[in-house]
Order: sequence, then C-alpha cells, then structure tokens
Amino acid sequence: MTTHLLQSDHEGDAFRPPDRAALLGKRVPVLDKGWVELQDLMGDDLAIVNAARVSFLGESKGSQKDKRLLFYLMEHRHTSPFEQVEFKFRVRAPVVTWWQWVRHRTWQFNAQSGRYVAFEEDDFYVPAAWRRQSPSNKQASLGELTPDAGEPLTQALLDHYERSYQLYRQALAAGVAREQARLFLPGFAVYYTWVAKVDAHNLMHFLSLRMAEDAQYEIRVYARTIYEHFFKPALPWTAEAFETFILARLTQQA
Ligand SMILES: Cc1cc2nc3c(=O)[nH]c(=O)nc-3n(C[C@H](O)[C@H](O)[C@H](O)COP(=O)(O)OP(=O)(O)OC[C@H]3O[C@@H](n4cnc5c(N)ncnc54)[C@H](O)[C@@H]3O)c2cc1C
Repeated sequence: MTTHLLQSDHEGDAFRPPDRAALLGKRVPVLDKGWVELQDLMGDDLAIVNAARVSFLGESKGSQKDKRLLFYLMEHRHTSPFEQVEFKFRVRAPVVTWWQWVRHRTWQFNAQSGRYVAFEEDDFYVPAAWRRQSPSNKQASLGELTPDAGEPLTQALLDHYERSYQLYRQALAAGVAREQARLFLPGFAVYYTWVAKVDAHNLMHFLSLRMAEDAQYEIRVYARTIYEHFFKPALPWTAEAFETFILARLTQQA
C-alpha cells in the first residue's frame, strides 16, 4: 500500500485508547454562559482501522501499520470507517449558534422546549466585544469597536434584555402560554440547550466548515472547543490525519 509518510513514525504513535473517565461528563465553558459537555463516545482510532480491515476480514496489525492505514483512509477519502465512531454532546449556546448548527443535517438533535420551560432572567448572550462589519464580505466581521465605543452598546443591550424579559414575565402573569409569551424575547440572543449526536466523519465536515475563519465567531468557538477538548483527545491519529489532509488543504485554498 502506498501512502503519505506519517509525520512521526515512531513509538510515540502507539495506539492509546481515549481516557473515557476524563472525557465523559467533561464540560467546557464557551462564550459568557454556554458550554459543551461530552455525554457519550463510541469507538476510537482503532475502531476506524478495524472497520476498514473488515474488507479483508482482518483486524489490527500493530500501531505503525494501523496508523498508516488510517492516514491512507483520510488521504484517499475512504470515509465510511470514520462513521464507526460516534460522539454525543450536550450543548448550551445562543440561538444564533443553534440556528447555524442545525443546518448540518447529518447530526441528530433534541432540544429544550420553550413551550415546556420558562426562560430565566440571565438566559441571554452578552458578547465580550462588538465586531465591525467587514467592508468586503457581506457575511463577515472584521476587527472590533474600541471598548469605549462598545460599552454604551453593551449597556443598551442589557437594558433591552431586561425590558424584554419584563414583558415576557408580564405576558406569563397575564396567563399567556409560554409558547407565545416568548415572542417578547430577543430571539437570536436566548441561550438554548440541546443534545446532539454525530459520527466522526460528519463531525470533521462540520469542524472544517465551522472552525474556518469565515464562520461566525459564535459558532467557531464551539467548533474549536469540540475539536480541542473532545475530538483530539478521543481520536489523536484521526485528528493528526485530519489536520494533514483536510485542514491544511483548506488553509492553502483560502
Ligand atoms: C460560512 C458559512 C456561511 C453560510 N451561509 C449561509 C447562508 O447565507 N444561507 C444559508 O441558507 N445557509 C448558509 N450556510 C449553511 C450551508 O449552506 C450549509 O447548509 C451548512 O453549512 C451545512 O453544510 P452541509 O449541507 O454540507 O452539511 P450536512 O447537512 O451535515 O451534510 C453533510 C453532507 O451530506 C450531504 N447531504 C446531506 N443531506 C443531503 C441531501 N438532502 N441531499 C444531498 N446531499 C446531502 C452533502 O454532501 C453535505 O455536504 C452557511 C454555512 C457556512 C459555513
């Protein structure tokens, strides 16, 4: 089999199963009030290799050959073995992030319902900085307002949230159903909680789109958190191959 040389062909490449005790239940804060938690993980780098070797009714041939095979799979887009690994996350993020995340049809979701549960007073996203509109890309931001220019906007946003929340509570107190009272809330800013399951192949697709510089900051930080805190520790060989064959090419094209 011919394939790309591994970046590091040495004993450091030995297969190590993920430290499930450290990963499962780990919650990483994101933005001002959000987080990502890993709820479940099925499989590891070896599961990918063994899935590929079923083609020959074989299994692991030792770390060096196994890792080489995994790199071959990634380089040549033999994607289905990567679907043998699954991640389940619990996520808390503003609706602006949710709205972009659910466009990824290869994830499975279940979300909090604003019909069942009333929103709390501090369930609103307050950005740490105000980004400027990019002059060249209608979908992007570029740079930030100075803290002096941003401070009155932040105060105005907090006042807006407070007023909206008062109206929401007023409607609930008047007997309006939760499903309708929420019309008073600033929709994009409300924090939502959901569970989401995805396999490693489709997670890499999500990460390559949503960690990119042209993705909105409010989803980029979640994608980056998933990659650094969960994907890399769970699948170190796959992460190395992903960086070598997918992320590096995307960076060159950009
Ligand atoms: C920077 C950026 C800007 C964006 N701007 C906009 C915008 O202005 N407006 C907007 O509406 N969306 C926008 N999107 C969302 C984008 O169009 C995609 O809907 C989103 O990124 C999901 O990508 P996907 O379909 O590849 O992923 P998934 O839905 O996870 O699908 C993964 C892959 O599976 C295949 N697939 C899945 N379902 C089908 C299907 N039904 N038929 C055929 N193939 C399928 C496709 O090959 C697809 O690439 C933007 C996304 C990004 C990253």
